Formats: sequence, structure tokens, C-alpha cells
Amino acid sequence: MLKTIISWIIRHVPRTYLQRVSHFILPVLGLFYKGNQVVCPICQGHFRKFLPFGRGKSARDNALCPNCLALERHRLMYLYLKQRTNFFQDKLKVLHIAPEICFLKHFEKLPNLQEYITADLESPLAKVKMDIHQMPFADNYFDVVFCNHVLEHVENDKQALSEIYRVMKPTAWAIIQSPIDMSLPTTYEDHNITSPAEREKAFGQNDHVRIYGRDYSKHLAQIGFQVKEDDFVKQLPKEVIEKHALPANEIIFLCKK
Ligand SMILES: [Zn+2]
Repeated sequence: MLKTIISWIIRHVPRTYLQRVSHFILPVLGLFYKGNQVVCPICQGHFRKFLPFGRGKSARDNALCPNCLALERHRLMYLYLKQRTNFFQDKLKVLHIAPEICFLKHFEKLPNLQEYITADLESPLAKVKMDIHQMPFADNYFDVVFCNHVLEHVENDKQALSEIYRVMKPTAWAIIQSPIDMSLPTTYEDHNITSPAEREKAFGQNDHVRIYGRDYSKHLAQIGFQVKEDDFVKQLPKEVIEKHALPANEIIFLCKK
């Protein structure tokens, strides 16, 4: 029942409003999930299990943290940043495109970040309103860029990626994640499909413009990035994966210049 309600809300309420409103509603739901079986590594909240999340085929149990709204992939990325990067230690200039609410509060407070710039075309959470095809930043400016679940919405992903590449310092790194359909050998894209209804049918969501296939990392490498496909989650103990409800097959795409 709860899964159906959440599924309906995700489908019908625009994402930007959802992030704002759900911030108040979900902690209340969380009271029904009191317990210690799962722990969110981002907010340290602990629950009987996480809330269900997703629409249609991708609806799943034990996914959404009622406290900070982190999903499986966010919890994984947080652990990755902690264990495998200099993100929490070094003095860094960071660009966070389409910032996820679960990361925002934490990252804004990190004393080591010299600059933490959030940017998006629509999201009210972002400080800078920008089009990713043409970013208002200087060349070679950032040490770190995050761009998660953005490219599948973007008209020209090559141009967007080139922009990310351009604003990165030669020593910078980026994490660039997108949903990938592993059953597709190559990315499916058709610029003649433009209406929301047609896009929903073709790409699985009315604001998606393509479905990336197993060639995703080639799209990144084409721009000039050195891409490391990190199966970090596979290197974690089973208890850790269960405790944080991490996505068992998620690959982290670490991109260097
Ligand atoms: Zn959390």
C-alpha cells in the first residue's frame, strides 16, 4: 500500500517540489520504521528498514532514508567519497550539478571545501541557475564535479560533458552517474521523440531523452575523460551492504582529465 502511494506521488508531483515537501512528510513516515536493522551512513539515522521507492518496474523496498532522503546510490557514493577520495580532507573547489538534498546540508558545512557551488536549470535547491550546455564558469576552475542522474535529461550530452571537462582543473576528478540499462549493448536515443508521452514510452520517463546502455563509459571517454569503472560496492563486506542497503550492482564512474 505504502509502495503504491509513494509510487503515485513520484509520478505526479514534480521532482523539485517533491524534494521540498517530502522533507517534512517523510520523517513522520519514518516513525513507523523505527528500528536498528539499517543505518544511513549520511545522516546516521537508523530504522527497521528504509522506505520503498521507485515507479513501475523500478519500485523497490528498503530504498529511501526517511530522514535525509538518501537512496541506495547516494549512500554508496557517500561511502565511496569517504573511503576512496580526498573529498573530506583536501582544500577543494567543488561544483555540484543538480544537487541531491541528502548531500547538500553535509557538503555545505564541510570546512575543507574552499568553494561549494550548486547549480541547476530548475532546482530551487541550487544556488546558481544555469544551463549545463553552457556553464557560467571559467576553464580549469574546479577540483571536483558531481553530476548524477542529469545526462539522461540533457538534449546534447556530448556538449554537457565537454562543459564539465572544460571547467575541471587538470588534476580534478568528477563522478558522473546516469541510469544504465545493462540489457542494452548501446545507448538508445532518438531526437524525433519529443513529446512527454512518447518519451515516457520510449525512454521510461517523460523527461528522459535517452537510455544509456553498456557503452555509457565510452560516452564519457569520447570527451577525453580517463574513466575508471569502480565496482567499489563489490569490495564491501556483505554485512555493510545490508546494513546500509546499498545497490549491489552499481558502478561508480570516476572521471579524470
Ligand atoms: Zn539518511
